[in-house]
Amino acid sequence: MRWHRNRSHPGRPEILDLRHFTGILRYLVASACSYNEDMQRRSLTITGSRLGVLDVPEATWRTWLSERGELPMRIKQIRRWILARRAESFEVMTDVPAALRRDLADRFDPLASRISAHRQARDGTHKLLLTLSDGRSVECVLIQEDRRRTACISTQVGCGMGCVFCASGLNGLERNLTAGEILEQLVRLRNLLPTDERLTHIVVMGMGEPLANLDALLVALKEAGDRQGLGIGARHITISTVGLPSKIRQLAEAGKEYQLAVSLHAPNDPLRTRIVPTNDRIGLQEVLSAADEYFRITGRQVTYEYVLLGGINDYPSHARQLAGLLRGRKAHVNLIPFNEVAGLPYRRPGDAALAHFVALLRQAGISVKVRKRKGSEIEAACGQLRRQLLSAVPAAEG
Ligand code: SF4
Repeated sequence: MRWHRNRSHPGRPEILDLRHFTGILRYLVASACSYNEDMQRRSLTITGSRLGVLDVPEATWRTWLSERGELPMRIKQIRRWILARRAESFEVMTDVPAALRRDLADRFDPLASRISAHRQARDGTHKLLLTLSDGRSVECVLIQEDRRRTACISTQVGCGMGCVFCASGLNGLERNLTAGEILEQLVRLRNLLPTDERLTHIVVMGMGEPLANLDALLVALKEAGDRQGLGIGARHITISTVGLPSKIRQLAEAGKEYQLAVSLHAPNDPLRTRIVPTNDRIGLQEVLSAADEYFRITGRQVTYEYVLLGGINDYPSHARQLAGLLRGRKAHVNLIPFNEVAGLPYRRPGDAALAHFVALLRQAGISVKVRKRKGSEIEAACGQLRRQLLSAVPAAEG
């Protein structure tokens, strides 16, 4: 382990450089993970272990139902109960024959995850810690603002990208989530709302790098868009990434109008590599060209996310460089003042530095917003609650 000297600003905070080396390794593990997930799913099917309904493959359903003399249409009926009618048990599915409901309960779980912690902030933000069927856990958040009901969801357990300021990546990547586990977070959050309300937006900004688990994510989001279910259209879905160029292109080719948010966090390669270690083998220009291509193919303006770390990437010179980088691009910048995390040596920028940063970007004609802080008293930032609870109690509270 070594510390990286802050050459541009001597005397300013230094950045732990260990992840610079582990980030690349973790990325490789993340890529291999989708294959492992497939294998894991197949083995669950073969060995007869319990599965959540949203993760049962179509072929397994068909075989299982035909063995009981039931038609395949039951699949749709059961999923609709969960996705549209908020069923959390088979018992309430009153138009499904009682014997079939008993068989279902013996073999499957309507929802495979369990809520192991639920916190609510004064501003209406809810945060859930969900324990998955293998005992691992992920976080998801419901943000309520005016008429918007936004679900912020995770795509991986942990994260392999190693961004130095992030609580989710502190212990590296454990595994990818399945499509059903991603979808279940939406169901769990939607079920917190009164019955006359629905989720209106999704932001894929929780734990994990979404594009490192793109196949499962696309399956889950397709389901989320179904009008017979959650009915959340692609234009209301934002996918955030540290910038994996080939995956950005794959997402563009998916033919959906998802909003893309690219996490820049720095306006030059040396600083970005210190904050986002995967930048080392990719580079800013590659990330920006992939984002340009996303805009060209989908017509959707790209948002650039920039976490402001006090004394590290919040100098006027950084704002000017950032403006230079984005000039001529149809882009929007979201500035996110750092949410302080216990155990990490970074701090929120001062108000004056923040205001100056914003002013410099605006003067350069860049569209910019500062993200409001939501749910701060419930550790709503990515990975904070999970980390806090897992380090406090061996088995999370029930
Ligand atoms: S900020 Fe996102 S990509 Fe980076 S380590 Fe955290 S979860 Fe992973």
